[in-house]
Amino acid sequence: MSSCLISLVLASSSARIKQCTVVNMDDLITVHHEMGHVQYFLQYKEQHISFRDGANPGFHEAIGDVMALSVSTPKHLYSINLLDRVEDNLESDINYLMSIALDKIAFLPFGYLMDQWRWKVFDGRINDDEYNQQWWNLRLKYQGLCPPVPRSEEDFDPGAKFHIPANVPYVRYFVSFIIQFQFHQALCKAAGHVGPLHKCDIYQSKEAGTILGNAMKLGFSKPWPEAMQLITGQPNMSAEALLTYFEPLKNWLINENVKNAENLGWPEYTWTPFSGQVQENDRVHFLGISLDSSEAAVGLWVLLGIMLVFFIATLVLGVRFLSDRNRALKAPFEMELK
Ligand SMILES: [Zn+2]
Repeated sequence: MSSCLISLVLASSSARIKQCTVVNMDDLITVHHEMGHVQYFLQYKEQHISFRDGANPGFHEAIGDVMALSVSTPKHLYSINLLDRVEDNLESDINYLMSIALDKIAFLPFGYLMDQWRWKVFDGRINDDEYNQQWWNLRLKYQGLCPPVPRSEEDFDPGAKFHIPANVPYVRYFVSFIIQFQFHQALCKAAGHVGPLHKCDIYQSKEAGTILGNAMKLGFSKPWPEAMQLITGQPNMSAEALLTYFEPLKNWLINENVKNAENLGWPEYTWTPFSGQVQENDRVHFLGISLDSSEAAVGLWVLLGIMLVFFIATLVLGVRFLSDRNRALKAPFEMELK
């Protein structure tokens, strides 16, 4: 994620973030994400240097996002005077969950496919003559996306994502987006929250802070399932908490899809590069406009028609002018009297 291009600096007495921000909701959330990394650094700084790291890379990405799940709730924004009033009805719930889902759920298939593609390249399951095609195979399979313009092996679309040319592992974000809901659920329980998970705000809960702090203090010194156990009371990564969090939205979407007779999913992938598509080198530049050859032919016929109309009109006007002048020369005074 681009947010991790931000520099985090930890010296003995201070921790700093170097980041260009503007005052908006996106950057408020990003700052919390980055502060999660910084807080992890601070918590495991007493560990031996070999263990000064997250329980796994996904843990490091998840800590700040867990904070942000509380920070983004309307209740919390109201409590810190960033919101004038809090709506509390089904519509506001669905709107809120949809905005979070567009961030968290829409990301999951992309987070899942990035390293699938990369690992297949590394172990030879994807050859170097099919890098781009296999990339788009995964993009359609998991995200339902097709390239908007024809692509070929002359293109290298995976390279447009920073983490590919920079060789930064990516599955950590997928892991983070799953486990952060497990952490959120466990900390909300510790904070005594009752009611839907998406309404929970762990702000100022000492109990939640202690649980998370103790897990972070372990750093990389124990296998990650032990850190997971400390936070959630069990050792596994599970999507169950995520499903619980979004349950009201899931039910709403099921009803809406039935109501609108939506077709779910997308067809199997059939993309072959350039098949049946107009290529750039077939295009004609005509009067400064880039057209394909059939559009250019239509344009030529239209221009020919306009020229013919002008030619006939000029002929008719010329004949009339000559006959009027002859008549005027024969009866000059008649014209003046009129
Ligand atoms: Zn990060």
